[in-house]
Amino acid sequence: MEGPGHRERFLMEKPVYLDYHATTPLDPRVLEAMLPFFGRRFGNAASRSHRYGWEAEKAVEQARRQVAELAGATAREIVFTSGATESDNLALKGAMEAYRSRGNHIVTMATEHKAVLDTVRRLERMGARATVLPPEPDGLLDLGRLRGAIQPDTVLVSVMYANNEIGVIQPVCEIGAICREKGVLFHSDAAQALGKVAVDAAACQADLMSFSAHKMCGPKGVGALYVRRHPPVRLAPQIDGGGHEWGMRSGTLNVPAIVGFGEACALCAAEMAAEAARVGGLRDRLKARLEAELPGVYVNGSMTRRLPGNLNMSFRGVDGEALLLSLPDVALSTGSACTSATVEPSFVLAALGVGRDLAHSTLRFGLGRFTTEEEVEYAARRVIESVRKLRVLAPV
Ligand SMILES: *Cc1c(COP(=O)(O)O)cnc(C)c1O
Repeated sequence: MEGPGHRERFLMEKPVYLDYHATTPLDPRVLEAMLPFFGRRFGNAASRSHRYGWEAEKAVEQARRQVAELAGATAREIVFTSGATESDNLALKGAMEAYRSRGNHIVTMATEHKAVLDTVRRLERMGARATVLPPEPDGLLDLGRLRGAIQPDTVLVSVMYANNEIGVIQPVCEIGAICREKGVLFHSDAAQALGKVAVDAAACQADLMSFSAHKMCGPKGVGALYVRRHPPVRLAPQIDGGGHEWGMRSGTLNVPAIVGFGEACALCAAEMAAEAARVGGLRDRLKARLEAELPGVYVNGSMTRRLPGNLNMSFRGVDGEALLLSLPDVALSTGSACTSATVEPSFVLAALGVGRDLAHSTLRFGLGRFTTEEEVEYAARRVIESVRKLRVLAPV
């Protein structure tokens, strides 16, 4: 089986992939672990009467332990889902419904992923009240502001672990302590954090936590929701059926994907510390190169509380879309979410108070397990050339 070391043996592939926040390559070792479950080991993990079922169930339970181990949970607290979007939906809708007698108020942040924000909007349409807290200019949540927002009828606080645009890591353990003290539930979307930084759901007193395999070199279409057992968290299921996953999420388990998710977690557990140091070093080098060669560049979000593989940078006087178009050999994204008709600047940057012009001049770099020094050097060179050229040819 090949480790990350195999990357040196290939020529640099184009376009260079620097969009690890959108998704990550499947680690070949994860693929290897999954393959038998597409073939001979095809059983349904819920079949109790024969070896095919037992084998599948055994593999699922091993994966459950592997996910739990990395997340600071016990296996019984891991509910497999189709990904972090579904986990966020189940956490928010499931808790608001189950605890309706306690109240109908939810607290979240303006920089959350759409899987949380759109779910909150839906809950509001169904009668809930929501408080959406702004971040500080560095992207972090002010804890005093959080305390002030929690009211007698607050059921749930949902604050993400690490942001998918600016990589900023929230003070999750401090938030957990405040929520416990106030007697409200705490959910955190940890899709970008698990496998990149040390996550400990139990120690941070989270009640619910969302994970996604494809953000950590695992397969797409699988994730999990951590649901605390001590003290127990009740959830109203959002998918009813055969009663799988302790009745919280019915449907035949996607065994190959779950096995891959488990293997991805085991690899992160073994390699995360070294990988974070290596990837963080590459990111710092990319940042230093761009800052040394280009005037008018600004990093968005805290540099001290940040994912090692994230760099979100604005380039004054350059249109971000034009910059991307001039970089066909580098797979990147802008900070902006593009809708079909208009290009709106990123709502995350807007929440940080970044002006429209600068927000429109932003690139998000996402580095990860298979990113090489050579790729970073190449990307830096191409970005520097393009920014210089566009500043002369098409000044904004
Ligand atoms: C990618 C992502 C999601 C969605 O995860 P899926 O598994 O693709 O549904 C949710 N939240 C955050 C922070 C993400 O980065």
